[in-house]
Amino acid sequence: MTHPTPEARNHILTLPPTELPAYVYDLTALREHAAAVRAALPERVELYYAAKANPEPEILRALAPYSDGYEVSSGGELAHVGRAVPGHPLAFGGPGKTPMEISTALELGVERFHVESLHDLRMLGELAAQTDSEERVGVLLRFNLPLAAASLEGSSLAMGGRPTPFGLDPAEADEAVRPLTDGTYPSLELLGVHAHLASGLDAEEQLAVAASIVTWSTDLAARHGVHLREVNVGGGMTVDYAAPESRFDWTSYGKGLSALLAAHPDLTLRIEPGRALTAYCGWYATEVLDVKPSHGEEFAVVRGGTHHLRTPATKGHDQPCSVLPVAAWPHPWPRPAATGGEVTLTGQLCTPKDLLARHVPAPGLRAGDRVAFALAGAYAWNISHHDFLMHPRPGFHFLDGGGRA
Ligand SMILES: *Cc1c(COP(=O)(O)O)cnc(C)c1O
Repeated sequence: MTHPTPEARNHILTLPPTELPAYVYDLTALREHAAAVRAALPERVELYYAAKANPEPEILRALAPYSDGYEVSSGGELAHVGRAVPGHPLAFGGPGKTPMEISTALELGVERFHVESLHDLRMLGELAAQTDSEERVGVLLRFNLPLAAASLEGSSLAMGGRPTPFGLDPAEADEAVRPLTDGTYPSLELLGVHAHLASGLDAEEQLAVAASIVTWSTDLAARHGVHLREVNVGGGMTVDYAAPESRFDWTSYGKGLSALLAAHPDLTLRIEPGRALTAYCGWYATEVLDVKPSHGEEFAVVRGGTHHLRTPATKGHDQPCSVLPVAAWPHPWPRPAATGGEVTLTGQLCTPKDLLARHVPAPGLRAGDRVAFALAGAYAWNISHHDFLMHPRPGFHFLDGGGRA
């Protein structure tokens, strides 16, 4: 959906210029999407939302009925998500956990820890032993597993199968499992394996990755004579910024996971997508300030820029967008307008990197027209360098059933 939903479009057109740029989220569209994702997944697949994709409390709450829990990767996310959706299960992962973060997570009764290294495991084992809790703390060992090159091809953010700071090296597997089975850490309970190996995979690639993680984990459990209860195969379901209409095929993914589960009757699978859940529900809306020629091309400068929507700069793509024409021009000076068929949209920053979308087909684009950048519901505002150049912050609008919240 490149075009904003009718609710988002109406809302964007009713905002005065002084309230632009603005992030506009359609929570109804988000709920519909999340419900469809949930419905496509078999019962024995748990859906955790990776909060780092977009941790706005309204987003976290809208997802609550369709998700089994939340994946958090810092003490900050842990506290924030715990406040926004109290009582929902949390899985705490991420590299470089501090003793303070672990202690806080233990105090808050976090259900699961994704252990990223032997050091992470030892800290958790000791700190868990110091609590008064009778309950054992659930542990999933995160591994950086080797993957067939084919399954990683085309994935933009590979985190596994090559040297990275994420997860345990597979060569450390036995050393990590042993203290969880020989009584070294009686406060910990080994639940299974976690692996988040790449981003940008389609359903077929995700299924190949999931199958190889499950096979590897089953072998590990068998070698140690332990019961494998859970395997978390991570997130990374693709969002195609070049083809925003095409979505990850959740139906065939769900069917493939069913087939995988059929061979493992006691196993719970878990996935933790972020981007593919929330990207589609958000738009970064703004207006054209100026249109000008430069060495044979035309540029439109919009209010705001990549300090609010860093996604295209980070990923090196053109953010999909649509133009919402505005007839009125209230000023006494002439209205700048494009003369050619294509315009490059940039922001207000004094750096050539402030490119939002290149060569957008927008014949006749005028100052005062509005532009809605799509797929801005994930890794957008929260990854951006807000303070660079001291422009004002955007507004935030969460549309819920046609109203505004
Ligand atoms: C970022 C991350 C995710 C979510 O990845 P998406 O590409 O947004 O689906 C899931 N799990 C872990 C461990 C992550 O770091």
